[in-house]
Amino acid sequence: MSRIKTIDDIPVSGKRVLVRVDFNVPLDSDGKVTDDTRINAALPTILKLHHQGAKVILVSHLGRPKGRRVESMSLSPVVPILSEKLCLPVLFLDDCVGVEVEAALSGMSNGQIALLENLRFHAGETENDVDFSLQLSKLAEVFVNDAFGTAHRAHSSNFGVAQILKVKVSGYLIEKELEFLGNKTHSPEKPFIVILGGAKVSDKIKVIDKLIEKADAIIIGGAMAYTFALAKGKRVGDSLSEPDKVNLAKSALSKADSRGVRFLLPVDTLVTDSLDFKSKSLGRTKVIEGDIADGWEGVDIGPKTIEKYTQEVSAARTVLWNGPMGVFEINSSNKGTFAMARAIAESDATSIIGGGDSVTAINRSGYGDEVTFMSTGGGASLEFLEGKELPGVSILDRT
Ligand code: AMP
Repeated sequence: MSRIKTIDDIPVSGKRVLVRVDFNVPLDSDGKVTDDTRINAALPTILKLHHQGAKVILVSHLGRPKGRRVESMSLSPVVPILSEKLCLPVLFLDDCVGVEVEAALSGMSNGQIALLENLRFHAGETENDVDFSLQLSKLAEVFVNDAFGTAHRAHSSNFGVAQILKVKVSGYLIEKELEFLGNKTHSPEKPFIVILGGAKVSDKIKVIDKLIEKADAIIIGGAMAYTFALAKGKRVGDSLSEPDKVNLAKSALSKADSRGVRFLLPVDTLVTDSLDFKSKSLGRTKVIEGDIADGWEGVDIGPKTIEKYTQEVSAARTVLWNGPMGVFEINSSNKGTFAMARAIAESDATSIIGGGDSVTAINRSGYGDEVTFMSTGGGASLEFLEGKELPGVSILDRT
């Protein structure tokens, strides 16, 4: 079967290689990088290209400058960190296209590394503008996409430029994402348990629909569980729910039923009579089973549910997790989420964390290092799990 080509499949020595990375890092008010996860994630590809003697030209976006130059969204704070991590000098250019950039890059030596300024300082980037893509294509002979987080969008730097350059392959980060979110969930080692939580059924219903075809059990937590409770004729009080999505929830339940997939909903719930997100506090709380009364809202799965879900995870060979089990940002309602993180960390299963809030949650629980794979994509992970083609991936060469 054919697969997406990677940097290991092509010669790069002496070539100018344009690498789309994801350096969309969080910055504090002084412009300091506060989380270097994304820089770390790009290092294997950059180092490999450097060692192979490529002229490595890195491009990325940062924030949403909306086509204008916004100094607070410059990529310059990334340069010293990247340079220190690579133990190599990094040339920084204060634009990403144009004759001056072309001239500066034409003098690069083999193995040298350059980082160009924020792509989104140009409106053409997100518009996938032909002229902007052409300008980017003049910088290199080879294109490498290693930014999974934007792969679901067809922008100039991951799609337009790849339509022009003859050689376009993936870096190691995208290769890994495709391996875990793709192969390992398409042909999972069984039992395959899918844990889904978070705020809304509507965000994840297509993922549920797709994964019912592969999973042995689907485990539901988070606010999403209350829409399923409504679908089962239960009352959910003031809990966050989507009454207009009850039909979607019903059809997921009947699809699971007809395929013999176990669909687990919480058997008990931590409820509160007031939730203040700002001060991160809850009012009175209690654990209940069954209907939730008006004036109370569900904020976490209860202890019986934790026990049941933990048993499921411990018997699994593959676990995919997307979305917290409760309002994990507040200490009194993080137990369900952290218990799942622990169960996943302690199981022998291949564990795949599907991006976004689940990654934040598992890192906060302290078990981040003990999972097999954490996706770097939020929206891209969900779209990929839904079975959609990602433009930034499908444009790449295949073997
Ligand atoms: P998502 O981005 O869909 O994965 O949703 C993550 C958000 O869902 C987090 O900010 C959680 O606080 C929130 N969440 C999870 N469970 C609940 C709940 N029971 N009530 C309200 N919000 C919840």
